[in-house]
Amino acid sequence: MAAIKRVALVAHDNKKQVLLKWILSNQERLSECELITTGTTGSLIHEASGLPVTRVHSGPLGGDQQIGARISEQTVDLLIFFWDPLEPMSHDPDIKALLRIATLWNIPIACNQSSADFIISSPLMESYDRVVPDFSSYQKRPIPVE
Ligand code: PGA
Repeated sequence: MAAIKRVALVAHDNKKQVLLKWILSNQERLSECELITTGTTGSLIHEASGLPVTRVHSGPLGGDQQIGARISEQTVDLLIFFWDPLEPMSHDPDIKALLRIATLWNIPIACNQSSADFIISSPLMESYDRVVPDFSSYQKRPIPVE
């Protein structure tokens, strides 16, 4: 059992203010976490709250993929991803990939404020034994040969 401490945060431009408000109302809990963010989201979080953040690239410049890579390396416990359901994005494939990889690895994901509220207030934040999926049968799958 381990506490959920390594939190990835990403918000699209139209959702950044919602995320900042959420950060400020959960600042105490988040101050106990390691925060990893996409570039612009992280700058705004740090400016608004003073919380230390590790920033990767901006989402459209590869940041979503960097966070996805960390999820696959088991170094992220929770993804807070306020994506914008009303705007097409230049990096739509990366967004889909990030959601896919977090789903694949059984990482808790909050895509809106109420889901984020439920997760951050859960007692499971203090102690959770996430099932890490076993992909050994996938890795041993038969590959078609000609
Ligand atoms: P940003 O990236 O935090 O650099 O704006 C977010 C995104 O669009 O994925």
